[in-house]
Amino acid sequence: MILEASVAIVGSGMGGATTAYGLAEAGIDCLVIERGDFVKKEDANWSAREIFVNQKYKPDEKWLDEKGKEFTPGVHYIVGGNTKVYGSSLPRFRESDFLEVKHKEGISPAWPFTYQDIEPYYCSAEELYKVHGATGEDPTEPPRSKPFPYPALAHERYISKLAEKLKAAGVRPHANAMGVDLKIDGKCIRCGTCDGFVCKLDAKSDSQSCALEPAMRTGKVRLETNLKITQVIVKNGRVDHLLGVKNGQEVKVVAKKYVLSLGAVNTAALLLKSGSIANSSGLVGKNFMMHNNAHIAAFDIRSKNDVVFQKTLSFSDWYFDGGSGYPLGAVQLIGKVQAIMMKTYATKVPLGILKFIADRSVEFVVMNEDLPTLSNRVEISKNGMIQIYRKAVNTSAHKELMRKTKKVLRKSGFQAIFVQPFDISMNSHQCGTTVAGSDPKNSVVDQYCKTHDLDNLYLIDGGFFPSSAAMNPALTIAAQALRVVDKSDLKLVN
Ligand SMILES: Cc1cc2nc3c(=O)[nH]c(=O)nc-3n(C[C@H](O)[C@H](O)[C@H](O)COP(=O)(O)OP(=O)(O)OC[C@H]3O[C@@H](n4cnc5c(N)ncnc54)[C@H](O)[C@@H]3O)c2cc1C
Repeated sequence: MILEASVAIVGSGMGGATTAYGLAEAGIDCLVIERGDFVKKEDANWSAREIFVNQKYKPDEKWLDEKGKEFTPGVHYIVGGNTKVYGSSLPRFRESDFLEVKHKEGISPAWPFTYQDIEPYYCSAEELYKVHGATGEDPTEPPRSKPFPYPALAHERYISKLAEKLKAAGVRPHANAMGVDLKIDGKCIRCGTCDGFVCKLDAKSDSQSCALEPAMRTGKVRLETNLKITQVIVKNGRVDHLLGVKNGQEVKVVAKKYVLSLGAVNTAALLLKSGSIANSSGLVGKNFMMHNNAHIAAFDIRSKNDVVFQKTLSFSDWYFDGGSGYPLGAVQLIGKVQAIMMKTYATKVPLGILKFIADRSVEFVVMNEDLPTLSNRVEISKNGMIQIYRKAVNTSAHKELMRKTKKVLRKSGFQAIFVQPFDISMNSHQCGTTVAGSDPKNSVVDQYCKTHDLDNLYLIDGGFFPSSAAMNPALTIAAQALRVVDKSDLKLVN
């Protein structure tokens, strides 16, 4: 089978679907290629057991860690990619995240463009992904040319009380920037199965419902599901075609321009497997980052947590400076954790005890910046598997943020704090593996995600991040996709 289009986009997650949306708006016909299928609307969408214990929507695929040990990666091969299960927390990066910043354990490098360059596209991405938020509460918030398109999600009673306790303990809690369809006449019912789950109501701002489907309704965008791209074929300094497999049959994809949005690890892996193309810098796969993250559960035996939609609050007081001149990171509520979810890591603790804890705990993610390091990298092993080499860096900042967070939570009345550090399998914030920059010697793509080496190849996913910041990545990927469509020659296909 041969498929043809002006632009072929591989991947329907945040990068791919948002690029398709932008191109459709510009009147360009594109083909979105997705290796997975649509997620069915079914009871499993909202079942913690199916999702967290049986890992229903995870692929039957293993990657190798640096010791060659297999693990199940934090990826989802479905229409919408990882955004189908993501937590929809959609903050902007801060102005300084685009500049060189000194951390205790190294340098967070400058991006080839500034916050001001991407700011208008943050506005468009917030509109597209229905971001609800508030200004004037977060001491680190960057300037914005337009207000949030929708007001912040109100805290439930328990979280309002928590906010008061946190303030009394000395930090400044603020509303989370959240992408859900809660606006008037919206579909969101504020249920407890958002973060980590698939939304049965299409009310979570995933890339399928917010970008891909509207793009397809223009008639400009076609979607080919269950087609896995396996090779990029280059001739005379340009991509000539892609090869893939659908239902066991070989498929050839021919386009004028090509966008790879497979996710940071898979895009790098495909380039490496295709003969190490677009890699004159030697940086494809290098500088793999995934944040230094940990989940914590703060437990108060005296107080039941009756919250349903928990993810409405953050505090970022130590984002720029944790007190000793170095940035630390952010602390953000996550969706309410159920006992059965705790069981996946606290395997030896009886479910009854976990339920007792879950009923009286509130859960956060503690997020630090990861720093780019050449030795942290994606490689293809001898038997063709993806292998991730990673040693966590900037861990002293993580420890310090954890120490300060625990202190504030204890002061707020919590008696115990349980910590679950993220391991290599929790690499959902993967980025950095096809870094953007202006010097072809030190980067894989330019500031518009076009590869320095191949004139008709663009890489639009988390891979282009020169640094990881300490904020959730998806809104920045979406904003950059819209910026690339607007500013680059990607849409010049005639
Ligand atoms: C549980 C969870 C919670 C998260 N919460 C948040 C959050 O609250 N906020 C936030 O900002 N981020 C969050 N993230 C991260 C966020 O989802 C990602 O940063 C974002 O989706 C990355 O976009 P992407 O385009 O790089 O990749 P993806 O969205 O993963 O898309 C990649 C796509 O490429 C497809 N693909 C891969 N290989 C091939 C191939 N060979 N051929 C064809 N198609 C292919 C995949 O199937 C997938 O659809 C979360 C992630 C997870 C897993």
